Amino acid sequence: MAVKFVIIGGGPAGNTAATYAARLGAEVTLVERDVVGGAAHLWDCIPSKTMIATGGAMSFSRRIEGMGLSHQDARLDLEVQRARIAEIEHHLQSQVTQLLSSQGVRMISGSARLAGPHQVVADTDTESIELDADAILLATGSRPRIPDWAQPDGTRVLTTRQAYPPPEMPEHLVVIGSGVTGVEFVHMFTSFGAKVTLIVSRQQVLPAKDPEVAAALEDELLRRGVRLFKGARAERIDITDSVEVHCDDGRVAKGSHALLAIGSIPNTDGLGLEAAGIVTDGGYVPINHHCQSNLAHVYAAGDVSGKLPLSSVASMQGRKIAEHVMGIHSREHRHIDYEKAASAIFTEPEIADVGLAEADAFASGRKIRVTKVPYAAAAKAMINDDTGGFVKIISDPATGVVLGGSIVGRHAAELISVLALAVTANLKVTDIVESCLAHPTLSEALAEAAE
Ligand SMILES: Cc1cc2nc3c(=O)[nH]c(=O)nc-3n(C[C@H](O)[C@H](O)[C@H](O)COP(=O)(O)OP(=O)(O)OC[C@H]3O[C@@H](n4cnc5c(N)ncnc54)[C@H](O)[C@@H]3O)c2cc1C
Repeated sequence: MAVKFVIIGGGPAGNTAATYAARLGAEVTLVERDVVGGAAHLWDCIPSKTMIATGGAMSFSRRIEGMGLSHQDARLDLEVQRARIAEIEHHLQSQVTQLLSSQGVRMISGSARLAGPHQVVADTDTESIELDADAILLATGSRPRIPDWAQPDGTRVLTTRQAYPPPEMPEHLVVIGSGVTGVEFVHMFTSFGAKVTLIVSRQQVLPAKDPEVAAALEDELLRRGVRLFKGARAERIDITDSVEVHCDDGRVAKGSHALLAIGSIPNTDGLGLEAAGIVTDGGYVPINHHCQSNLAHVYAAGDVSGKLPLSSVASMQGRKIAEHVMGIHSREHRHIDYEKAASAIFTEPEIADVGLAEADAFASGRKIRVTKVPYAAAAKAMINDDTGGFVKIISDPATGVVLGGSIVGRHAAELISVLALAVTANLKVTDIVESCLAHPTLSEALAEAAE
């Protein structure tokens, strides 16, 4: 008898688990209340990166004179942008749906909840379907956190779900929150010519990142005229003829619009977890290294698991769970090492990192070798007329094994793949140096940094 695997939520975690488990022979049912592809396709990764790509083209158009081209006055057409996002989303959603059906996954459009440790109920528009499960995956994602002092109206005070694309282009946007999501918004809106004030609760934008990396971004934000309110926490928003964000230190940031980018909360309310005996922590479902909750046959993946809130991590968890459910974990299955997950920030300069950070190594007293070269070391950076940025590689001084790295500059998100592979496969810096790379490419800066 095939394993009955019921998945709640069709985002990157849920749809990847469904595809792999079905391929491995499970009888998979996927319940999704909105669209397959999840928030990642509908509101987060795809719309954000589509608009950021347009913003990047726009800011590049302002710099083309250095390449001997005359400047064109690029203007954003929000309607075209909306249509472009919708087209990409539609295309990706059909791709995922087709893949799932081709693997024989049963898809139910409705809202699911647990009715017991092995029972899921899916409420559709017309009926309630009872599903028995040998294994269950909770992959319900998260939604923007809205504090009680802010009432987003979708017009002048926006959540992250209302701003890609925004209802209108703000003249002056106050962005509350300077983590990855916040700074990507600042980058996008300034690329389109909006003024921006950024409320930074600490003394550094991107507080969780390497200070040198954060400083490179901060320099660019200041160059773009972004006002930084450092060490300030927003605590009230007044809407008059302008939008006023009041901070706890008495400062007031005034703009035409405000945007909340202060994190997310897990979608676990109403899921019936408590009744089924599943332990939660602050709404998240704590998991072990196999992504199992306290009940061995109930897994959690993606944002709801409280691990790294990244689409890439959600998909990897989904894949590992499929293998575990099908019992192949004892052979080729490897646990996810969250410390080795690459991540990227799509700003200008683009930022990407993986593995051990220099600051963390110093804080823990671990001996490391740090090598750093500027992008200008690669001829391609000169050819691109874009020499800003650097590559930093952290390795073990005794063995030469690559432990981590940061890349700041054009195409950093693509280039980090080389370091991600090195970190995951325990490659040495000499392995990078001895790879005969194409010329001229930005990757040559990686080889230089590995010397
Ligand atoms: C603005 C923004 C930009 C981002 N950009 C990136 C990026 O560039 N790269 C990256 O890696 N990550 C990015 N992220 C993070 C990424 O979007 C999330 O980590 C990812 O979506 C998590 O995937 P998931 O499968 O857990 O959840 P989701 O994508 O949220 O999918 C969960 C699904 O579950 C469904 N669901 C919930 N409850 C139920 C229920 N009871 N019954 C049925 N269905 C249910 C929802 O409708 C949803 O479709 C971004 C996040 C934000 C906010």
